[in-house]
Amino acid sequence: MNDILPGEVETWQFMEETARRVFKAYGFAEIRVPVVEKTELFKRSIGETTDIVEKEMYTFNDRSDNSLTLRPEGTAPVMRAYCEHKLYALDAVSKLYYLGPMFRYERPQKGRYRQFHQIGAEAIGVADPKIDAQILAMLTHFFAEAEIPDISLQINSLGCPACRPAYREQLIAALESQLEHLCADCQRRFRTNPLRVIDCKVPGCQSATQNAPAIIEHLCPECDDHFATVNRLLKEMEIPFTVNPRMVRGLDYYTRTTFEMVTNSLGAQNAVAAGGRYDGLIREIGGPDQPGIGFAMGLERLVLLKGQSSVAPQRPELFVAALGAEAGDWGFLLAAKLQRLGISVELDYAGKSLKSQMRRADKLQARHVLIVGEDEIRSGTAQLKNMDAGTQSPIALDRIETTLPKILSGEFTP
Ligand code: ATP
Ligand code: MG
Repeated sequence: MNDILPGEVETWQFMEETARRVFKAYGFAEIRVPVVEKTELFKRSIGETTDIVEKEMYTFNDRSDNSLTLRPEGTAPVMRAYCEHKLYALDAVSKLYYLGPMFRYERPQKGRYRQFHQIGAEAIGVADPKIDAQILAMLTHFFAEAEIPDISLQINSLGCPACRPAYREQLIAALESQLEHLCADCQRRFRTNPLRVIDCKVPGCQSATQNAPAIIEHLCPECDDHFATVNRLLKEMEIPFTVNPRMVRGLDYYTRTTFEMVTNSLGAQNAVAAGGRYDGLIREIGGPDQPGIGFAMGLERLVLLKGQSSVAPQRPELFVAALGAEAGDWGFLLAAKLQRLGISVELDYAGKSLKSQMRRADKLQARHVLIVGEDEIRSGTAQLKNMDAGTQSPIALDRIETTLPKILSGEFTP
């Protein structure tokens, strides 16, 4: 679990602001849900045999002996809220996004933490593949606006309850014939979660499952049509993507379209965003039979890709370097007035020497420094330094509250 400090937080804010701006264009509104839910919600939705439910949840009993869990993902809580507040009665389509911390008890490593953060979006109520294509367009748009390099979109279809069971049986049979080549994890789960085996990153499992049947070749006609339309719409929108028949998501609730945004620059943790359709999920948790599709992006990985401190930290517009008690008070009050106008002003609090105040102004990368001492107050004129240009000019103190904001905003040069 990490602290996010000033200097890195700017990149986080940039991602959050970019997501808010892009998602708005597609009609998504923010929803905020609690970080804890009843354990049952995650067991039912994510699935008992998934990695998350089997070994990654932070589960505890509260004082009334209710089993609660720190949310490991956002979709289930959002669906719970959708049902609880009957959002389906407000509009046939609900487009929601969320951002915030998620918790998984995993082995920490680069790009994988126990508290991590996701930005996710869910579109509920639409079965038509247009929404799949639109979600993918929005995701691609976000990555372009966030200027994240070397990213590619992979899509697949996981079928539906009509076609997946038969495929699953075929897959189990194929895996059984390769059992001795599979890793211990996959040997254990090949019957309970065979799809996860073809997605396993262990090289032995990858080669052993090379010739395993691919789900997109076993789709029912409806799923096949759906996937073909998603493919066609993406092409018509000129969104680059590849079909990856081996891509399986680790959560049970997915149906039909699934997708990942992958990168080559994060090693094993190559998925930056992932999602898919979950047409049976809302009914499964006791709500109406509404289809849905969504995704979640990992903020830590987005920030890693963008570069920890690639977004410049805030620079003060002005540093007031005041010398002596009288000028100190005067400078403090001037700062207060400018700050009230929304101008970022820094000042010295400790009666330091001019040299040390200038050092601090430099370190903070202040754009301007106003130097005032007793003499300046007496004569009514101080020196204003433009730190970027390296110039210095006199400024009259009597009208400084009106002239300074204009100088700082570049409206006029002294
Ligand atoms: P992975 O295969 O990397 O474990 P996942 O399938 O568990 O991913 P999802 O549950 O789909 O991931 O979550 C979506 C995104 O959230 C991931 O693509 C990743 O960017 C991020 N994410 C998931 N788990 C973590 C974690 N423990 N630490 C940081 N980011 C994470
Ligand atoms: Mg995982």
